[in-house]
Amino acid sequence: MSFQVQEYFPGVWHIRDAMGVCMTLLAGDREAVLIDAGYGLEPVRPLIASLTDKPCRLILTHGHHDHALGAMGLDRVWLHPDDLPVYRTYTARAQRQAVLASAAEKGVRTDAADYLTALMPEPEAETGEALELGGLTAEIMPCPGHTPGSLVVYVPEYRLLLTGDDWNPTTWLFFPEALSVADYLKNLRALLADCPFEHALCPHRTALYGREAVEAFLSGLTPECLHRAAPSPEGQAKGVRTGRAVPAPGQELVFDLDKYMEKKT
Ligand SMILES: [Zn+2]
Repeated sequence: MSFQVQEYFPGVWHIRDAMGVCMTLLAGDREAVLIDAGYGLEPVRPLIASLTDKPCRLILTHGHHDHALGAMGLDRVWLHPDDLPVYRTYTARAQRQAVLASAAEKGVRTDAADYLTALMPEPEAETGEALELGGLTAEIMPCPGHTPGSLVVYVPEYRLLLTGDDWNPTTWLFFPEALSVADYLKNLRALLADCPFEHALCPHRTALYGREAVEAFLSGLTPECLHRAAPSPEGQAKGVRTGRAVPAPGQELVFDLDKYMEKKT
């Protein structure tokens, strides 16, 4: 297997797949839950079995291909219902072909025919709950922003937040399904006010972050900072005019400039 696995707390593994996106496995005494599943170029079932012998369910923070396609071939998956259209679009054949092309560029091999035809499970509704895994709790919480049905996960035993794509040091908020910057910031600020996390793991980095990194990101995203955003190329492929704001050293928010002008913070 080409997964890179790091255990940050007992029963908490942050796992990077061959394409560079991360998922997180939480395993208690009775049950386990995998949060996100990567691109699916390599099956996650043997990976889970190598780390825990407990029954494991898969919950997706949102429906994008780099989190959801790893569910291919599995029987069950849970997702917020508001992300069902996202899941259908981003796990469809056209997106898989795009993933195969970028995998080939990176030298990541898979069986292309299998990858294009593998069935995706029909997601079951996950709207927020506390999963008691046995000595470890996964509190699933909706936090719309990066997508309408984005979920985050809080592990109170370690004061750990799994942010999904609602926060990465480089956060993308320009896909058509993303909320406006104003609504995204409102929801993320409410999360910070309610959730006493001290540590954060995000899908697009392997490192463990402190709460202060997320706080610096949010407090730096002032109207002035957003106004100063420089045009950036990320949205070109989707025909979206994007800007890049820098709220803190080493952190960026890439957002849809036109959507932002329609509904300013
Ligand atoms: Zn995403």
